[in-house]
Amino acid sequence: MIEMETPKLPEMLEVWQDTINWQPSKSQQQKFQELYEIILIGNRQQNLTRITGPQDFWEKHLWDSLLGIAPLLEANSNNILGYNLPKNANLPKNAKIIDIGTGAGFPGLPIAIIHPDWNITLLDSTRKKIAFLDKAIAELQLQNTRTLLGRAEAVGQQSQHRENYDIAVIRAVGQPSVCAEYILPLVKVGGLAILYRGHWEEENTLNLESALSKLGGKIKLIQPGKTPLSKGIRHCIYIHKITPSQPKYPRAIGIPHQQPL
Ligand code: SAH
Repeated sequence: MIEMETPKLPEMLEVWQDTINWQPSKSQQQKFQELYEIILIGNRQQNLTRITGPQDFWEKHLWDSLLGIAPLLEANSNNILGYNLPKNANLPKNAKIIDIGTGAGFPGLPIAIIHPDWNITLLDSTRKKIAFLDKAIAELQLQNTRTLLGRAEAVGQQSQHRENYDIAVIRAVGQPSVCAEYILPLVKVGGLAILYRGHWEEENTLNLESALSKLGGKIKLIQPGKTPLSKGIRHCIYIHKITPSQPKYPRAIGIPHQQPL
């Protein structure tokens, strides 16, 4: 069989700089390219992503994954972008991060690549996705990353995971209040939950606030943005965990989705 060579990802150094005030190093770019290759190969065995062109992959998987944590990057810690999160977020050096419903590893894997100092857990309920991620982590030699097979509803009730993470991220898993019920119980009091969203309306804020009142969270910032190449709408929702989540949340498997808060 003739192997197709993986197309080269664009570098986009200026775009990185202009949008999130950061640039990948040569070795990080190399890891991004390796990740791209691993995903394209994995896509032959299972349906991992429809986003396979080099520009698309760069924008919708790499750039988008890092947009959400842009305010936490060291370069932005003095509010260059007008964010005021880092000082309040009090991130420890070896912060524990969980990506809930990570799928093929987004946003968790790009975050792990640029943050070797953070400990990343990739959670998904699909065994095949976790098997893929285990291989990807080994090939990328990411010592800071591990996988967890399970449902967010169950993991959120396990003492070794509940209120155990400094930051939790979630992209493309469900409507905002469902995401909130999955994510908030896993975040430490004082920590940060980040929802990666597309369009966002005032009504979403109201619904989310009502769910958060039961989960111990408070919206800190709703940051609108546009993807740099195709100008897609994005909103990153930053939620501070201010008090413990009520013990009954997350509810039993399937309930958050069937009866959203
Ligand atoms: N976050 C990725 C994948 C989104 S697809 C991205 O943005 O590209 C949604 C993923 O969430 C699927 O892989 C699915 O298996 C997982 N998922 C859905 N509900 C879940 C739950 N309750 N607990 C854990 N994983 C879940």
